[in-house]
Amino acid sequence: MVKESVPAIALKPGREKSLRRRHPWIFEGAIARVSGDPQFGETVAVTAQDGSPLGWGSYSPRSQIRVRMWTFDPSETVDAEWMAHRLKRAIAYRTTRLLNESHTACRLVAAESDGLPGVIVDRYGDTLVCQFLATGAEYWRSTLVEQLQTLLPGLDIYERSDVDVRGKERLPLRSGLLAGKEPSELLAIQEGNGQYWVDVRQGHKTGFYLDQRENRAIAMQSAAGCNVLNCFSYTGGFSVAALAGGASHVLNLDASAAALALSEKNHELNGIERDRYTHQEGDVFQVLRQFHQERRQFDMIILDPPKFVESQASLNRAARGYKDINRLAFLLLRPGGLLFTFSCSGLMPIDLFQKIVADAALDAHREAQIIRRLAQAADHPILLSFPESFYLKGFVCQVLEA
Ligand code: SAH
Repeated sequence: MVKESVPAIALKPGREKSLRRRHPWIFEGAIARVSGDPQFGETVAVTAQDGSPLGWGSYSPRSQIRVRMWTFDPSETVDAEWMAHRLKRAIAYRTTRLLNESHTACRLVAAESDGLPGVIVDRYGDTLVCQFLATGAEYWRSTLVEQLQTLLPGLDIYERSDVDVRGKERLPLRSGLLAGKEPSELLAIQEGNGQYWVDVRQGHKTGFYLDQRENRAIAMQSAAGCNVLNCFSYTGGFSVAALAGGASHVLNLDASAAALALSEKNHELNGIERDRYTHQEGDVFQVLRQFHQERRQFDMIILDPPKFVESQASLNRAARGYKDINRLAFLLLRPGGLLFTFSCSGLMPIDLFQKIVADAALDAHREAQIIRRLAQAADHPILLSFPESFYLKGFVCQVLEA
């Protein structure tokens, strides 16, 4: 039994099943009783209906996800030392296996997947960029920052908690310096054969799509001699990789002028000949249609759109969007050409995504094969007990000659 002075939540009968399978989220509807008046983000003891302890979690009074579990071991104490231990465990794997001279940026802490719900820490050279996306993460924010300073001394730490999901937890959006000195306007990182400028203050996420690192390497290996169309190109990650792999030309297409401007700089940083790349500002849905009318053809097309699925309710509309761009891409590919197609929506199941791509090929009257399946990079691990952490999926499809 849990001591009465400790804030606690008791689950409804049977609702402990998912916790016994170590799924870290407790939804509002699963809770029978709240006792001890827990505050925003405070640690609560979680018990089954019969009072048996199930572990400790952080309380989020305004969110549908009412509790996020820190630990399933009731004998653990969630304190500063505990936080340090979890951080250390997450960082150890990355620093020994992932970071080296040829890779100076990676995700050090990937929230639920590393047993730290809502906590993201990305490293860009000597700068850490943190996001605290849930009330528990927010509650432990200063402790986590102190522990990071101890574990990784001398690094600058910047916060990018200016993400919409914080609204669901009724947390204000916030960004700014947490420790060390203000990062320079652009930070340079090395990723394999490519170098990139990262804008940690204004860029998407914490500045760069680190989750695509391994897929950019695969694009590099596949691009020799190809005329490439890079859709949703952001700051040119796939383009620089493809050009390093010998692509003859890359056309980068994005709706954001700011992203394209930084993409230009990234191509310059890598000393790529000016006639091997172009940038075009525009809407992918419209421009692909126009290219089809103009009968343009490419050897390789990359489709890495933003998250189309925001909720279960928007899944159908999102599916139509994915199908549309994939169909157009198939129409624009030469026989033998490659389509790198992605969905970063956690709510899009991989089998449905595969079906959408298959339907798109059928509609385009193209026969195609999946020659590779792609996912998020190793520093964005998928926790087996939390399948929601598998969010980025992709296929490399090859169009067959008729
Ligand atoms: N492939 C990139 C990341 C893509 S992020 C990388 O590896 O770094 C998604 C990008 O899509 C953003 O840059 C955003 O500006 C752009 N975007 C969103 N909707 C768009 C649309 N309809 N047309 C063109 N670009 C769009």
